[in-house]
Amino acid sequence: MSNIDQNLALFERARHIIPGGVNSPVRAFKAVGGTPRFVQRAHGAYFWDANGQRYIDYIGSWGPMILGHGHPAVLAAVQKAALDGFSFGAPTERELELAEVILRLVPSMEMVRLVSSGTEAAMSAIRLARGATGRSKLIKFEGCYHGHADALLVKAGSGLATFGNATSAGVPPEVVQHTLVLEYNNLQQLEEAFALHGKELACLMIEPIAGNMNFVRASVPFVQRCRELCTEYGALLVFDEVMTGFRVALGGAQSVYARSIPGFSPDLTVMGKVIGGGMPLAAFGGKRGVMELMAPVGPVYQAGTLSGNPIATACGLETLRQIQQPGFFEALSQKTRTLVDGLKSAAAARGVPFSADCEGGMFGFFLFDQLPQNYATVMTTDSKRFNTVFHGLLDRGIYIAPALYEAGFVSAAHSEDDIARTVAAASEAFSLL
Ligand SMILES: *Cc1c(COP(=O)(O)O)cnc(C)c1O
Repeated sequence: MSNIDQNLALFERARHIIPGGVNSPVRAFKAVGGTPRFVQRAHGAYFWDANGQRYIDYIGSWGPMILGHGHPAVLAAVQKAALDGFSFGAPTERELELAEVILRLVPSMEMVRLVSSGTEAAMSAIRLARGATGRSKLIKFEGCYHGHADALLVKAGSGLATFGNATSAGVPPEVVQHTLVLEYNNLQQLEEAFALHGKELACLMIEPIAGNMNFVRASVPFVQRCRELCTEYGALLVFDEVMTGFRVALGGAQSVYARSIPGFSPDLTVMGKVIGGGMPLAAFGGKRGVMELMAPVGPVYQAGTLSGNPIATACGLETLRQIQQPGFFEALSQKTRTLVDGLKSAAAARGVPFSADCEGGMFGFFLFDQLPQNYATVMTTDSKRFNTVFHGLLDRGIYIAPALYEAGFVSAAHSEDDIARTVAAASEAFSLL
């Protein structure tokens, strides 16, 4: 290994040819400072950067790698599929196999369409909700991310009577004027918003367990009320399970809420990440009557050159096969729980204010005592302290998300020893605070 920091060299080279040196903003380490790690290869729970340094990976491609990297059965499925061709632009049986598995595991979905990214799936679900209801307006919640479709890059306006303001340049006000942004878990705002706009709402879209503001659960009463109000006013309840689908439980977050709310189901579900197992694949689906409004049967247009890609579907199908093995989620949940409990104990021993939560293979932690209920509280995190913990972990070979508003992910490949070493590293990182 040479003395030159190869990550830095690559980053310098990247910055001249790719804006910010990265193809998705959070990878740039802008929030935490320092040099992004360029990944050379990954295996199991680890990846190696351009300097040959190994890290225990708690990002797992932001969720998809639930089996760890390079799972042998998944790798074999991908290799086999590649031999038969990369893309056809014509239907394949494997798309049906994947669709059948999704529909069997997520019973609220009676039909599904496969696409290539979560952004595409969420955007299409909104178009479908608008087409199905003949209405334009939609509710989203502050801190929930549904991809970067124009209508969703929006923050709250002033008061409930006004609609959102764009959070990105290049999004005209007319495009976000139909998007109402509410505070997560705020029942009173929810009631008021429906009283004011309920009859104009096409849908309410929510991350049921939000993973894009670290890890924040929608409360059971909140989800229940979202369901009731949508039904009462004829709006569609859209669960964005791009992150939580096949990650927090085999049936997704909706199956977690159905334990507390008998008969619960959303109208539409958006999926991504795990269903592609690391390949570009996402989906949206719901009741047959709504889904049959999609082209070519119905009037709602949607399409994609690479949709249902044969290699991506092979990868997703084998990933879903693996996670259906008996005890898979029990073991994954237990491991994630061990990590979270370990982090809590380490923080307590160092006198560091701390809270943490997890569901299935997804977790989050906060450098304050009480679990937050909404985005504003998450963002009260002292970013300097978070950065100290982040770099403390990174220096010790532990890779968590380089931003305080992102969830973490444990895979089946993480060993007890990986978890123990992570907790030990965290204990040292906490001592730096
Ligand atoms: C990642 C994510 C998306 C966007 O998916 P992409 O594949 O990155 O476009 C949408 N919604 C949620 C909840 C996500 O976590």
